[in-house]
Amino acid sequence: MTTAQEVDQTVDAVVIGAGFAGMYALHRLRDDLGLDVRVFERGSGVGGTWFWNRYPGARCDVESMYYSYSFSEDLEQEWQWTERYPTQPEILDYANHVADRFGLRDTITFDTSVDRADFDEGSNTWVVTTDAGEVVRAKFLITAVGCLSTSQLPAIDGLSDFTGRILHTGQWPHEGVDLEGKRVAVIGTGSSGVQAIPEIARQAQHLTVFQRTPPFVLPAGNRPLDPENVADIKSRYRDIRESVKNSVAGTIVEYPIGSALELDEETRRRELDRRWAVGGSDIMATFTDTSVNLEANAVLADYVRERIASDVKSPDLAAHLSPQTYPIGAKRICIGTDYYTTYNRENVTLVDIRNSPITAVTAQGIVAGDEEHEVDVIVFATGYDAVTGAINGIDINGVGGRSLRETWETNPQAYLGLSSAGFPNLFFITGPGSPSVLVNVIVSIEQHVDWIHDLLIHVRDNNIDRVEAQPAAQDDWSAHIAERSQSSFLSKTANWQTGANIPGKAQVFLLYVGGMGPYRKTCDEVAAAGYTGFTLTPARQSAIA
Ligand code: NAP
Repeated sequence: MTTAQEVDQTVDAVVIGAGFAGMYALHRLRDDLGLDVRVFERGSGVGGTWFWNRYPGARCDVESMYYSYSFSEDLEQEWQWTERYPTQPEILDYANHVADRFGLRDTITFDTSVDRADFDEGSNTWVVTTDAGEVVRAKFLITAVGCLSTSQLPAIDGLSDFTGRILHTGQWPHEGVDLEGKRVAVIGTGSSGVQAIPEIARQAQHLTVFQRTPPFVLPAGNRPLDPENVADIKSRYRDIRESVKNSVAGTIVEYPIGSALELDEETRRRELDRRWAVGGSDIMATFTDTSVNLEANAVLADYVRERIASDVKSPDLAAHLSPQTYPIGAKRICIGTDYYTTYNRENVTLVDIRNSPITAVTAQGIVAGDEEHEVDVIVFATGYDAVTGAINGIDINGVGGRSLRETWETNPQAYLGLSSAGFPNLFFITGPGSPSVLVNVIVSIEQHVDWIHDLLIHVRDNNIDRVEAQPAAQDDWSAHIAERSQSSFLSKTANWQTGANIPGKAQVFLLYVGGMGPYRKTCDEVAAAGYTGFTLTPARQSAIA
């Protein structure tokens, strides 16, 4: 690809993706900075993850009052969430409302993917090529492609022979799927499977769940929002948003009551019972030491296993559904509704494939161990090539034509999770090495976009032409990520955060576990010190060079 090729248009910035990250980036850059921006979105509408994930039961497991933009007081006052945990349709309505309210749609080119982006060193610009053949030159390129947007379909022998329907939770047909009277298989019991299974069980003639690793599922305690509570939150929204921004998880979490190892059994149980009844993930924060001490962790894990045993009528089934091989919290915790009791239904079968894996798909069904399970529909709830998958889906070539995909093959590094050495003027929203989806992702997104917005003001005010992460700063950040992740059980189990769910993917912990507040502070310090760790090249100097 020659960077001297004909371009159709030259703009200040190209943003890839019109999910929550892309929409906010567009708003900030176009409306607050006055930049000329193009946004390309492969879907036919806004919403990103929430545009694609339309599987039965899809909803967010961050509470709606916090899983929302904070940048506009009018927006947060006027929008009415209806439930504690918002459904996918309601979140998509919200995304559409934001797009309309801020006039975003006209600047977004839908049904269009960015195929490649090449850095032109002569002009310090990116030449962006879409699958429609359009070529746009941009000073800055921003990826807003989502962390969990590249679906993972396992390569199972015979899959193409299956005569029934194959679905993935992350690419659910927009017209819906009628599962009534159907024999349905769900493969995978992560957050998506846990939400879909109870709903599919209600619709299907029979549901067979193929479980490799049982998850810990906490009850959502979902309910309609209480208008008084909503009014109270709205009256204090500014203060709440401020504490959320500086919190660890990007949301409001109840404080721990003490160490699981020091509290007496009666106190522990009383508090666990209370938090279980309230629902949601606050029970994870009951004790100070759950995520750092295995013995303390077992107090909570045992409690959840006890709950599973009481919810599931068959002791044998309960045993198969009980996680035993990893600490609670070492895989992303799942929040569900009616998850365990669904297995009491006559029309639901659990196939534990840990010791007898799926070996093939036939024309009629799925073979696991020495048994064939005949089904009409297979639902893959098998997750995503997370964090780097969607970025690597674009052929991005930086300084000297170096491919980002190849650069990241063994070690996907980005300084602050925002920018990769050798790829100037390119910024990732929720990239590898940022807190991204480990915390409330909308809080992550707003922080990233605001930081990029401020950087671009600095760039403009100082006539800077090129912004590039320094390799040493990037290495230091990666070392910091690796060190911080050692303190987390998440880094010690096979999961998408470590790249372990994708055959051949680099085994690197992909996220920043230090929390939203500390991450924000570091980014602010970098900015306040004149963007340490970045090489900022003034326009004149780079033109001479
Ligand atoms: P996931 O957490 O990666 O879970 C994938 C599931 O598929 C796991 O149970 C995995 O088993 C299983 N699996 C993968 N490959 C398999 C194979 N070849 N054979 C059998 N089983 C296989 O994916 P996800 O459930 O889509 O969730 C991904 C992330 O998206 C979540 O962690 C969360 O961050 C986000 N999400 C959020 C929400 C929400 O807000 N409510 C909802 C959905 C998703 P193993 O565990 O043994 O690998």
